[in-house]
Amino acid sequence: MSCLFCSIVSGDVPSNKVYEDELVYAFYDIDPQAPVHFLVIPKEHIPSAGAVTPENSAVVAHCFEVIAQVTKELGITDFRVVSNCGLQAGQSVPHLHFHVLAGRDMTWPPG
Ligand code: 5GP
Ligand code: ZN
Repeated sequence: MSCLFCSIVSGDVPSNKVYEDELVYAFYDIDPQAPVHFLVIPKEHIPSAGAVTPENSAVVAHCFEVIAQVTKELGITDFRVVSNCGLQAGQSVPHLHFHVLAGRDMTWPPG
């Protein structure tokens, strides 16, 4: 199965890494929507937030620990975390990822 973000995790597709451990990889978005925009993904292929189960949910909690740690290291206190699930919601890569956006005013509701 070919998956862009699995290829980024394996290093087959290059990326600008922010953070990595045995479970999680984080890298800057290629098309940033804010002055700071990076993605946090589980190394395990989970298709979307809609595919989280009791068996794989621990890595989701770990993603949020990483988000808290990396934003702290970058000196960011105000940020938005987004996970688009499904085409209508704007998901374009079917591997679970959390957008972390910061550095500008955010509007609500999102478009
Ligand atoms: P989605 O649209 O699924 O919520 O988010 C996918 C994100 O992946 C988009 O913000 C898009 O800019 C980013 N993206 C797509 N291809 C690449 C790539 O090859 N490298 C990086 N770093 N980001 C990518
Ligand atoms: Zn994948």
